[in-house]
Amino acid sequence: MKQFDHIDLNLLRKYSRQGPRYTSYPPAPVFSTAFGPQSYLDEIQSTNASGDAADLSLYFHHPFCDTLCYFCGCTMLVTRSRSQISQYNSYLEKEIDMIAPMISQNRRVSQLHWGGGTPSYLTPEEIRHLGAFTGSRFNYSEDIEAGVELDPRELTFDHMQAFRESGFNRASMGVQDFDPQVQQAVNRVQPESITRDAVNWCRQLGFKSINLDLIYGLPFQTLASFEKTVDIVLDINPDRIAVFNYAHVPWLKKHQKLLLEETMPSPELKLEIFKMTIEKLIDAGYWNIGMDHFAKFDDEMARAQREHTLYRNFQGYSTKAGCDLYGFGMSAIGQFNQSYQQNTKGIAEYYQLIDAGKPATHAGYRMTADDHIRKAVIMGLMCDLELDMAVTEKQFDISFENYFRDALVKLREFIDDGLVSIGDSKISVHGLGRLVIRNIAMCFDAHIEKMMKEKPVFSKTV
Ligand code: SF4
Repeated sequence: MKQFDHIDLNLLRKYSRQGPRYTSYPPAPVFSTAFGPQSYLDEIQSTNASGDAADLSLYFHHPFCDTLCYFCGCTMLVTRSRSQISQYNSYLEKEIDMIAPMISQNRRVSQLHWGGGTPSYLTPEEIRHLGAFTGSRFNYSEDIEAGVELDPRELTFDHMQAFRESGFNRASMGVQDFDPQVQQAVNRVQPESITRDAVNWCRQLGFKSINLDLIYGLPFQTLASFEKTVDIVLDINPDRIAVFNYAHVPWLKKHQKLLLEETMPSPELKLEIFKMTIEKLIDAGYWNIGMDHFAKFDDEMARAQREHTLYRNFQGYSTKAGCDLYGFGMSAIGQFNQSYQQNTKGIAEYYQLIDAGKPATHAGYRMTADDHIRKAVIMGLMCDLELDMAVTEKQFDISFENYFRDALVKLREFIDDGLVSIGDSKISVHGLGRLVIRNIAMCFDAHIEKMMKEKPVFSKTV
């Protein structure tokens, strides 16, 4: 079955607007510093007091990288100092030892993620040590989904063995573009052979799912050059591919000024590159999960979408719903049913708070009744690409039509463009609607206007 018969550039152009990625609802710009360390402690206590044995998800942020990619939008620190990295690891352990004893021992970890920065910048010994330390403080589920973000440039087989011994079984690596001129311009020289080595090692060691990230919109990219990159990626044959739109925000990320705007593809060319990429991926048998994410039809993520068990959290699409997420390390975000919490983004402040015996929480958010309703609708649309309004009415005791009168008016534009239909109590997303699902979700977001006015920090949807 082919997902898109025709990709209409006019529609992509029309919906190329700024918008949240909805890894949470409400999105992180709504978080407030009124939610601090004590609020987090109260949340941990109340969510572990009832004997509830809901599974856990753990996220660890490893901020260090050895060189700076000029396009980078992550919370990272460039360092060549190994002692700085080991100091940070010791603080991660202190943070684990502060938080883990407060969590009910009945709860198993079914999802683990190391992100960054570059988790693979740790030495194999550091990976083994931190992996064993974490494993000794939590109970891992047998079918744990444990993912790690890799930079093939620093990677050795020993690193991958260390990750595997620490329980990791999913890997994601940045490629961005294989073209040497593009790689030079963005200060990330990564020959094709080392990406192939990294993927081969993952396969050899039994990693279940391998994802490659691409970015379109980087300097010197042309339709022909990016097509070559896509061809190489298809030959490598990963289970998942993400194709991100480069967000050029030099007023937020100062180092992006090192990229000259005149060398970047025009907005029109970017859309053509995206269109070509989608066509090639779909022709090769990949399935668009939504937005810029593609997976093989039999990959667990595509399966989860068909079985309506897909979920979204701060790591993106996930196959494990209903877990409380605990974040460790600077800038890490946690998510409970009633709240979100984010650690401070500054390393000095992170150390200070941990030294003072406090959680490093800098900001957070407590969900309101309205947020819960909208979150269910937005996550339903983002993950299932359809929503049963009757189920939502029953779940929250509302009249969908009355509650979402404004949202349904905003949805009219998408219905007129053939991207959404409403019938039999269902809202269904069709065709290219998958690619602009963020725009569709925005219709139901009660915070969007205020965020756009006060903190317009979102990337373009396509
Ligand atoms: S390796 Fe990743 S996190 Fe580090 S600078 Fe490059 S893009 Fe950013």
